[in-house]
Amino acid sequence: SPEPVPTAAASAPDLGARLDDLRREYAALQARGLSLDLTRGKPSAEQLDLSDALLALPGEGVHTAEGGTDTRNYGGLAGLPELRRIFAELLGVPVEQLLAQGNASLTLMYDTVVQALLFGVPGSERPWSREEQVTFICPVPGYDRHFAVCEELGIRMVTVPMTPDGPDAEAVAALVADDPSIKGLWTVPTYGNPDGSVVSEAVARRLVSMPTAAPDFRIFWDNAYAVHHLTEHEAKSANAIDLAAEAGNPDRVLMFASTSKITFAGSGVAFFASSPANVSWFTKHLAIRSIGPDKVNHLRHAMFFGDADGVRAHMRKHREILAPKFSAVTSILESRLGGAGVAAWTDPDGGYFVSVDVVPGTASRVVTLAKEAGIALTPAGATFPYGRDPQDRNIRLAPSMPPLEEVQVAMDGVATCILLAAAEAATA
Ligand code: PLP
Repeated sequence: SPEPVPTAAASAPDLGARLDDLRREYAALQARGLSLDLTRGKPSAEQLDLSDALLALPGEGVHTAEGGTDTRNYGGLAGLPELRRIFAELLGVPVEQLLAQGNASLTLMYDTVVQALLFGVPGSERPWSREEQVTFICPVPGYDRHFAVCEELGIRMVTVPMTPDGPDAEAVAALVADDPSIKGLWTVPTYGNPDGSVVSEAVARRLVSMPTAAPDFRIFWDNAYAVHHLTEHEAKSANAIDLAAEAGNPDRVLMFASTSKITFAGSGVAFFASSPANVSWFTKHLAIRSIGPDKVNHLRHAMFFGDADGVRAHMRKHREILAPKFSAVTSILESRLGGAGVAAWTDPDGGYFVSVDVVPGTASRVVTLAKEAGIALTPAGATFPYGRDPQDRNIRLAPSMPPLEEVQVAMDGVATCILLAAAEAATA
């Protein structure tokens, strides 16, 4: 099925009888002396090669953008209109409400939170840093770097569970209704990191219309994987900015996106989109910290894509490279662990991750076993605030970077580690 399999609690079965066999299997795995890495969601070199034409663009003597702008010079704070038009169409936002900026959407998110702390956002009674406490809701499992921003800036984090339709909207609504310290909610609406979930229209409507005790509550709508499909079933993100305006909360949604997993992860273009009031708030502060973004990079991206269909066609090339790696992960998990009752995993239609829930209490053991067999996994707990998974059961797998054969070998090894950790727990 193209739908993500919901991560469910796995139960420790009676694997005790197999403990000796599994120990032997694990020893054989260790003896192979592997050195494999499934830790971070980076594009592979083969994917980066898809965008190599960028390195020759815009080309010597080519620097004039639409309207005669000399891209080499200062200015153009909102970013190049021809590139903004392409991404406005893909992200479903009006071009005037979309800014094209530097190479990292994470920087835009960080800046947004810092600016909110220093100055407040439209509708704030005071800068967030003058509040006794600022709290963000963090759906779990989630993206470690969202949590790191909160941790560094002293923002308290409360968790709600993820569902296959996005954050548990009723749990979110109950929290924000009573607690005025709750100023933010992180969400990755399309192909969530790590669970691959897609925020449904119903969940989006609930999140943008629920009453909030804080008058300046914001949803950080991190649309990092909006066009990153792995199957022909191309999920369409709910149009949260429009829905929020319809619901009478036009300033609630801040959208972020980038070409990090479209062109070059290190030299792409990041985007910020929101209501007119939020865009002018963000721009006002942006104007103090920059005279303008890298418009040469914007021009080269606009030339490379041509139009929104150019981006879609380019993403199908990524899909051809990525889809077999994801199929390898899920088919190996199914063949090694299916029916064993030791794990549940997602089968995402897009994005960069597979989320695995193992027997509670064994995730860190699985990661250690894998490490000692030469297979690097994301640290257990990384998908939770402060790196602490209260049930020690979630593991994030990132199969994009290694070649397919390495993904296959690594996943077979990971399956052995999951089984061994479960057997150890069953006999402990
Ligand atoms: N948001 C999510 C959900 C991600 O998974 C990632 C990268 O893994 C990022 C943001 C980082 O984006 P950028 O490269 O634009 O900073």
